[in-house]
Amino acid sequence: MCSQLSFARGLMWAAVLMFIGLASERAGAQEPMVESTGWDAVELLGRSVAAGEKRRLFLRASESFAGTSVEIPVLVIRGLTPGPTVCFTAGVHGDELNGIEIVRKVFESVAPPDLSGMLIGVPVANLHGFRRSSRYLPDRRDLNRFFPGHPGGSSASRIAGALFQNVVLHCNRLIDFHTGSFHRTNIPQLRADLRKPAILEMARSFGTPLILHSEGAPGTLRRAAVDANITAITYEAGEPMRFQADEIARGYEGTRLLLAKLGMVGRSSRGDDPEVFYRSRWVRVNDGGIFLTSRELGESVEAGAVLGTVTDPVSNERSQVIAPIPGRIIGMALSQVVIPGFAAFHIGLPGDVLAQPPDAPSLPTLHPDQLDALEHPE
Ligand SMILES: [Zn+2]
Repeated sequence: MCSQLSFARGLMWAAVLMFIGLASERAGAQEPMVESTGWDAVELLGRSVAAGEKRRLFLRASESFAGTSVEIPVLVIRGLTPGPTVCFTAGVHGDELNGIEIVRKVFESVAPPDLSGMLIGVPVANLHGFRRSSRYLPDRRDLNRFFPGHPGGSSASRIAGALFQNVVLHCNRLIDFHTGSFHRTNIPQLRADLRKPAILEMARSFGTPLILHSEGAPGTLRRAAVDANITAITYEAGEPMRFQADEIARGYEGTRLLLAKLGMVGRSSRGDDPEVFYRSRWVRVNDGGIFLTSRELGESVEAGAVLGTVTDPVSNERSQVIAPIPGRIIGMALSQVVIPGFAAFHIGLPGDVLAQPPDAPSLPTLHPDQLDALEHPE
């Protein structure tokens, strides 16, 4: 009887222990249950990035002449809770510095526990150009004409392909940061294909005061991303070779505002109601010489207004650069030596409200020799 009782007790304890064992296994299985929501560690660039982790990874995209690998730094923050993946690329043109600082500030400001979703940042996409203070790659190619790239293509195409395949295709949304090129400066502005509702909404969420409708030239990172169904915009601000406080602050605040609107970080201050330009035109100089201007970014000008002068330094002959259309100066050359055909002013033609389709605004008929249409060298 006694032995039967102790046998029964033994069975009971075995059952209890088995239950505890199962329970603890189930407790161990709690984490896989979180994984089943789809928000577990993610593989990026051959590394695992866990939820709540902030990491710096490297993309091996090229080699130096001596065979040492050129590794592009990639910053990653995996939030604790699910959300979209937003990517930031800067320095696609190696001499455009403002975006590099914007990406740094964004990643410095976000702690993984406060983030829903994931951030991926490529602060210096064109490392070759950055080291040489050049817009271009060592083969004189413009990296931002070779996306989505190809592994068997030119040096530019291979770097573009590595970046696109290994980083960009992980993104739901992308902001590509640029500045004006070649001694030109841009008023802080977004470039976006406003015909696409998701992109329009993203551009509005950024809160920058000026949006320019632009499909993006084939080969640009933004255009290739949009073609791959990634919601992408470009932030253009300031000039190359400088870190400019206001342009950086606007880009940083716009990015935080966008992340807040997406529900990825806490509240942010409200942005401006943007002025939208569906069309813009470049005004080129017709003579070579010393180009001088006292115009400033953001100025509104009438048709026929004198925007600047070009003076021949030998003959002293002087010509004027005239605004052929009314509009707002959204980009311009700094005073410098120019040759005929140099694009000196980027004039935005005020559009209608954001809801209006881009084709709707009626525009003045422009002579094709007089002005360039749709040239946005981002
Ligand atoms: Zn650029």
